[in-house]
Amino acid sequence: MLAGVGRGGVAGPPSVPDGHLEPERYYAYLLTHVLPHAINASSPHCMAHMTTIVPEFVHELSHVLLALNQNLVKREASNSFSTLERETLAMMHRLTFDESEAFYGEHADNSENSLGMFCSGGTLANLTALWIARNAKLGGVDKSVESQGAAAALQRSGYAGAAIVGSALMHYSVRKAAGLLGIGEQNVRDVPVNERGRIRGVGCRQVLRQCVDSGFALIALVGVAGTTDCGSIDDLEELADLAEEFGVHYHVDAAWGGALLFSQTHRVRLRGITRADSVTIDAHKQMCLPVGISMLLLRNTRAALAIEKTSNYMLQAGSGDLGRCAVEGSRPGNSLFVHAALNIIGRRGYESLVDESMRRAKFMADQLRRSSEFELLVEPDTNIVLYRYIPSHERGHVAGGGRTAAEQATINAFNESIQRTQFEAGRTLVSRTTLQHPGCAERIVALRAVILSPLVTDDDVLALLADQLAIARGLERR
Ligand SMILES: *Cc1c(COP(=O)(O)O)cnc(C)c1O
Repeated sequence: MLAGVGRGGVAGPPSVPDGHLEPERYYAYLLTHVLPHAINASSPHCMAHMTTIVPEFVHELSHVLLALNQNLVKREASNSFSTLERETLAMMHRLTFDESEAFYGEHADNSENSLGMFCSGGTLANLTALWIARNAKLGGVDKSVESQGAAAALQRSGYAGAAIVGSALMHYSVRKAAGLLGIGEQNVRDVPVNERGRIRGVGCRQVLRQCVDSGFALIALVGVAGTTDCGSIDDLEELADLAEEFGVHYHVDAAWGGALLFSQTHRVRLRGITRADSVTIDAHKQMCLPVGISMLLLRNTRAALAIEKTSNYMLQAGSGDLGRCAVEGSRPGNSLFVHAALNIIGRRGYESLVDESMRRAKFMADQLRRSSEFELLVEPDTNIVLYRYIPSHERGHVAGGGRTAAEQATINAFNESIQRTQFEAGRTLVSRTTLQHPGCAERIVALRAVILSPLVTDDDVLALLADQLAIARGLERR
């Protein structure tokens, strides 16, 4: 057995090996102990995750990236890669905000302005957006919120607290950000969603009004374009109107749904996104790129100055260093993958990927609607499908409601078993979530299919449902 690796069966905690190991022996260990048990992200039978296989050219480019090992924290450590990153951000900014030719002429290579930033994930992009929003609201003279903290800034301005308002289905990264920024998780104010998983303007205005009436500073209104739970899209235009009315930073979390912007057919679903102050888009989700690549795009090119930091040995003002306005310091040149994909796959290529997976999700929803054994729980806005199996003795009710708590609990437990058995059997896979269905007091356990991989066909969708039916019937016989 190798020291430090392959300790299966070896008692005691791992420790750093004293000696060195031939790489070949290490590879052999990986091949036997780790790789066979990794999740096969490229399998068309796996519809559980929001990340998927990456195109072949990315494999090639990853060698280039590692060989050059550029550090995007500053221009001196990345030079042309900093330029490439700014160019990529400009392309994505234009796709999102659709500003004029003159706008991009003026801002695209002006290193004093920022169209946004790359981050290692949507969590960091959301955090960055809310950091900018907090400082814009509570900044004070010389950004005293940064030097003295949020509590002092709130006190100085006479606020009772600070709040972030958005959908009950907001990603939990918003809560992380509220904690980190001294806003407080309990001050993330949830607006209940309807049966489509979207918030309504009326409910949202009510929550915003309550915050203001109780003396709270409104840090941000968050619209979600593709909720993690069920892919639902808030009415971004309606929320833009509200953000304007209340004078609050408008953040759109399009980590999942941002890719719909590539599609002539589906981009209308994001109408209103051009009015956002900031937008999060994950490249490692629907853009099929490696895990750890996300973008925050900013409508106002001066907005990022609210979080600007400089230091003596680097990041000098006027340097154009990308690390000046970012949560992260040293950072890889992953923007290369996005730049390459936008050129190699192109808008029309992404459009067909998006259109195809949206069509396939609708195909799956149609199958479920027609089935007497399954129940479609939410009409999908994007390519995430929530449904559940109804055991034979529980059939004959309307979707979601009309059941006692005990009946719901039985169905919930049954669906948990299906998903667990399916994971153990390993032929097909979906994930599982719970949702609060309007008209039903209890939380409902839902099977959650993410229709993303370009390798998934209609037949794979049918095979998945057939596999789940077989598992369910097997469980019912027991
Ligand atoms: C995935 C997701 C995030 C978080 O992104 P990570 O890349 O996992 O950090 C944020 N918001 C939404 C809506 C998401 O789907």
